[in-house]
Amino acid sequence: MEKDFYGLVDIGGTKILAALIDGSRNMIFRHRQPTPAIPEPERVVENITGVIGEAFSKICPSGSVLAGLGICIAGLVDYDRGIVHQSPNLGWNRPVPLRSLFGEKLALPVFIENDANAAMLGEVHYGAARGHQNAAYITISTGIGCGLYLNGKLYRGAAGFAGELGHIKAFGKNRRCKCGGTDCLEAWASGNAIACSARLLFAHQVEQGIEINTAWVFDQAEAGSPPAKNIIDRALEDISTGLANLVTLLNPTCLVIGGGVVNERPAILAQIREGVFQLATRPSVQVTTLKIEPARLGSEAGIWGMYALLRERQEDKKE
Ligand SMILES: [Zn+2]
Repeated sequence: MEKDFYGLVDIGGTKILAALIDGSRNMIFRHRQPTPAIPEPERVVENITGVIGEAFSKICPSGSVLAGLGICIAGLVDYDRGIVHQSPNLGWNRPVPLRSLFGEKLALPVFIENDANAAMLGEVHYGAARGHQNAAYITISTGIGCGLYLNGKLYRGAAGFAGELGHIKAFGKNRRCKCGGTDCLEAWASGNAIACSARLLFAHQVEQGIEINTAWVFDQAEAGSPPAKNIIDRALEDISTGLANLVTLLNPTCLVIGGGVVNERPAILAQIREGVFQLATRPSVQVTTLKIEPARLGSEAGIWGMYALLRERQEDKKE
């Protein structure tokens, strides 16, 4: 009997996660590897097709069909055309026709999506935003990403660039952002931004050879360092402002917050929640029941979102 399998890949700045899931939602293969140091598009494509192809031929029984490949990636993605216009984390500053590159290697449907959009779909279908028709997914990690789900559909905007909450302005003064802009939310409130602020403020420790990263700043704040606490409070205030603006603008019923900075630090979520409820328009948090939930699918949210997307596309075709 023929059996469908789906190839799913999440391409991040530091790691690439690849998986195979069958038609009954069983993940039968999962592979995590570091992103190549020089992630040229052709090399990344060759690597992924190799990993997925080998796993498919080794694990799936004869007669199996690889029904589609869903790729999500940190960057500005034109979903309809399968083009990655910009991916600062991968150092891609020119448009990359990622779907065509995969099409040269594989004869199957390929879909390319922004990673936060994919995570939003994953959380709506299988995670913390189930049952919601108006929701947003926000990831706070090295950067700040966001996916929007409005009126029961992923909202991509005119060309796929909607939801770039990390690059709204203006926060702080005179700090460059990876996107090419200045004083984006991400430049002042992401994990990287927190570490960057601390390296400036704790210059003496840097001179002594102490490696200052995001976790170090949180540890210092917990140990009672007022400047470290100040950096974090300021970042969380900026995040709350950004999210409150989003709530005022879109009137969602659910915000799902994921990413390394928030995972395992539930106190942060409480602080963000308080800020959002203070700053958003009153009816949007008092008349509307707004839930602010931790993400449930962790680093696999994007994979599950691409799976949901592939299944939906397959159903569309049957109709
Ligand atoms: Zn930016």
